[in-house]
Amino acid sequence: MGKVYDIAIIGGGAAGLYAAAALSSYKKEKGGIEAILLEKMHRCGLKIGITGKGRCNLTNTKPWNEFATHIHPKNVFLKNAFYASSNTAVMENFERMGLPLVVERGDRVFPQSMKALDVVSTLERHILQGGVQLRKNAEVSSLEKGADGVFSIICSDGFECSAKKVIVATGGLSYQTTGSSGDGYAFAKGLGHKITPLFPSLTALKPKNYKEEFYGISLKNVSVQLAVNGDVVQEEFGDLDFTNGGIEGPIGFKVSRKGVHSIINGQKVELRLDMKPAVSLEQLAKRIEREAAEIKGDKLKGILPKLLPAKLVKLFIEGNNGLSMTNLAQKLKCWVFPINDYVGYERCVVTAGGVSLQEVSQKTMESKLVPGLYFAGEVLDLDGDTGGYNLQIAFSTGALAAQSAAASLTR
Ligand SMILES: Cc1cc2nc3c(=O)[nH]c(=O)nc-3n(C[C@H](O)[C@H](O)[C@H](O)COP(=O)(O)OP(=O)(O)OC[C@H]3O[C@@H](n4cnc5c(N)ncnc54)[C@H](O)[C@@H]3O)c2cc1C
Repeated sequence: MGKVYDIAIIGGGAAGLYAAAALSSYKKEKGGIEAILLEKMHRCGLKIGITGKGRCNLTNTKPWNEFATHIHPKNVFLKNAFYASSNTAVMENFERMGLPLVVERGDRVFPQSMKALDVVSTLERHILQGGVQLRKNAEVSSLEKGADGVFSIICSDGFECSAKKVIVATGGLSYQTTGSSGDGYAFAKGLGHKITPLFPSLTALKPKNYKEEFYGISLKNVSVQLAVNGDVVQEEFGDLDFTNGGIEGPIGFKVSRKGVHSIINGQKVELRLDMKPAVSLEQLAKRIEREAAEIKGDKLKGILPKLLPAKLVKLFIEGNNGLSMTNLAQKLKCWVFPINDYVGYERCVVTAGGVSLQEVSQKTMESKLVPGLYFAGEVLDLDGDTGGYNLQIAFSTGALAAQSAAASLTR
């Protein structure tokens, strides 16, 4: 049924495109491989197009020991893939393919053009130059392995082909209009793989009784603690945004993984916001006492605008029942937001959970259960913080899957 390819890649997102680009390079060097990339949407890399607010933060320059602290749930799984196609190797590769890059604050890497779609066009150009076939509007609806060891692939438009090796790079569940709607989990399950529980990560946490008046408030250099069942399980320092979704921004996203997971598990979740993390409670109390001494009339009303952005003053008073001059410092150091909800896949950055890492070789990305089947990118139970980590996961695992699949064919 249909043509027999050596390698078929399902999904033309970050992982699939990078895998196909690696195959193109391999083909140019060693020749002889017939490969096809099947992408369900009318264009490849629709999600790449919305990354980094349209600028695409494509990796992060941190060395592995620091980089690894931003990978979940088991960073050691990524180590081989990272060393085989590291952040610096990925950067060199993009530059070689004709995409100049720049490094910004926080070691984050972007295309110099600041256009995410340039990442897609660079990869597509390289793929086509190397002779890997690219088929768009090709939604794979069935993936099966025959007794002869060859995979049969059927697309919903009737296109059929076979492949000796298959790389599943179908992404996660977030922003489904970009094409990632979880098909890869079904393919993996159908072939006997376990899928660990899926949940949204890098998303907004919604406080109880959240009010519209919070929308648009951004706080710089604050600290937030995530408390689960009363115990502090994570603390982050940096910037925080209140949006129509809830509490997010760089440090809101960082605590969201554990926050969402705990809510799903029925645990009691709180965010404790310290708006003055640079000073101790004692120092803050003394400062308040000193400044209050000069205020005539209502001291609480007089001092709050000196301590908080104007937009927050009223909300702070309302949100801290029983607020008085005596407990003001304490409340500024610990404003408690009970959290009972979060923004789902429609607007989260990444899907946590996925194809169980126990059943995939970290040296090759090949399934330990189904020889010839490989996984790459977000479909795996592997995700990162914001800062370019998720795309690097996709590039490293995509490249390793492609190189391993190609090498096993030529062996
Ligand atoms: C708003 C937003 C901003 C982000 N910004 C950044 C950032 O700046 N830096 C960063 O590192 N990460 C960022 N991410 C995360 C990053 O985009 C993803 O982790 C990454 O794209 C995952 O790559 P992937 O190839 O595994 O999946 P995807 O990029 O989602 O690609 C999967 C592809 O598979 C295709 N597909 C699915 N099912 C089928 C099927 N049945 N047949 C054929 N094709 C199929 C889909 O159409 C899609 O093109 C962001 C995510 C979002 C949502």
